[in-house]
Amino acid sequence: IPVDRFDLVIFGGTGDLARRKILPGLYRRFLAGQMPEGSRIIGAARTEMDREAFRNFVAEALDEFVAPGKREAAVVARFLEGLDYVAIDARGEGGWDALAGLMRKDVVRAFYFSVAPALFGDIAERLHQFGIADGDSRIVVEKPFGRDRDSARKLNAVLARHFDETQIYRIDHYLGKETVQNLMAVRFANILFEPLWNAQYVDHVQITVAETVGVGGRGSYYDKSGAMRDMVQNHLMQLLCLIAMEPPNRFEPDAVRDEKLKVIRALDPVAPEHIVRGQYQAGQGQPGYLADAENPASRTESYIALKVQISNWRWKGTPFYLRTGKRLRARASEIAITFKEPPHSIFEQEEGWKENVLVIRLQPNEGINLKVMIKEPGPGGMRLTQVPLDMSFAEALGEEGADIPDAYERLIMDVIRGNQTLFMRGDEVEAAWAWTDPIIAAWEARGDRPKPYDAGTSGPEDALMLLHRDGRRWREIR
Ligand code: NAD
Repeated sequence: IPVDRFDLVIFGGTGDLARRKILPGLYRRFLAGQMPEGSRIIGAARTEMDREAFRNFVAEALDEFVAPGKREAAVVARFLEGLDYVAIDARGEGGWDALAGLMRKDVVRAFYFSVAPALFGDIAERLHQFGIADGDSRIVVEKPFGRDRDSARKLNAVLARHFDETQIYRIDHYLGKETVQNLMAVRFANILFEPLWNAQYVDHVQITVAETVGVGGRGSYYDKSGAMRDMVQNHLMQLLCLIAMEPPNRFEPDAVRDEKLKVIRALDPVAPEHIVRGQYQAGQGQPGYLADAENPASRTESYIALKVQISNWRWKGTPFYLRTGKRLRARASEIAITFKEPPHSIFEQEEGWKENVLVIRLQPNEGINLKVMIKEPGPGGMRLTQVPLDMSFAEALGEEGADIPDAYERLIMDVIRGNQTLFMRGDEVEAAWAWTDPIIAAWEARGDRPKPYDAGTSGPEDALMLLHRDGRRWREIR
């Protein structure tokens, strides 16, 4: 679906995120014909450079981050023509008039704040002061949105000074992933799952986001945050909300976000024995966390596993186990919903019984897998076995499935469309921090040290115990 013509300003347009994600994503939308002719992308950053230099910078980014088969010279050239650049220091006065002169009044105006959050207030203020943004403009802000409830509240207040909540798009790129949106389609467009989607039929849920990369390169940033702040408070929380929320009455921004907020508010505090924090140490030829973070005394967790309980009618008694970590065995993100056993078995077979599991794979190979029991084929009598009903989007949807847009491109197009459904609302972010704050404060007060785990494994041993104690086990990371 095409969107309206737009002027998109990327503050931090020469930064790492712009180079790797935002600009290549916009190019792919341009290639797909979704970006209307005459739309413009304006880089704005402290770096002194002119329009030509910015175009060269973007051309290089496309060379590096867009597949060769998608870089037709003529299309790239047309895309680059729509680019402009203004050198601006967010805290200074220079450059703003030039930017104001470039912006058109008759198109959608969007401002992507791809800079440190400390600059959000300055930019919002200048946009207002120089008459660059108005009541129809949109602003996009990146994570981290605060590091606790206080700082998130302050950021919200700073933005609210000049922008209405309906103009603010807080990105959580997990919500832009195809499979994550499919989660809502699977839940709410089928009759099959929803009747079973509760504590009566669901034994437990596992949410895993496993990464193979370490923190090298951004170690000093990460060391001040850790897995809880960097991953759980936002990405895993969003996934949890989409699984646990009540059906919204419409697929509309506030209807969806109201339901997510209710889930966050229903989360129980987490007891220390339901938390395992880990930190990778050197292994399989990879350096340890302390070297990566350049902080030999660091107690920051690069891994965390939690048992989370939701105190509401639907979920009371069904635990949600969350885990995420760096330098693990494989890169894999998935949500696995394990159902309870049937109430009574009519078969004599005692072994080989397995519960139904619905696995939603976010990466790699996005898709859905439902494990069901069937009779083992052959004349051996009534022997039961479990088989997967497996669907990979790439295979099921053919060419269309192979061309799934990246999360960033989809979300930026949503900004231009003015659709906030897949963006976090201010109260949601604050509520998520309100849940994580006391958990973090408690382990800091106790002076807990994270448990070591070898790089390239599936995390600390203690994390296994978290489920063993409940008679359950983690799915393998592979
Ligand atoms: P970066 O350090 O690579 O780039 C920062 C950009 O901001 C540069 O273009 C720089 O010129 C500009 N800038 C810095 N100070 C400025 C000032 N005073 N006035 C105007 N421009 C200024 O950072 P990044 O990695 O691109 O990250 C940008 C934001 O996105 C950060 O808030 C970061 O936390 C967030 N983020 C980044 C990633 C990522 O993968 N890089 C992922 C998620 C979120």
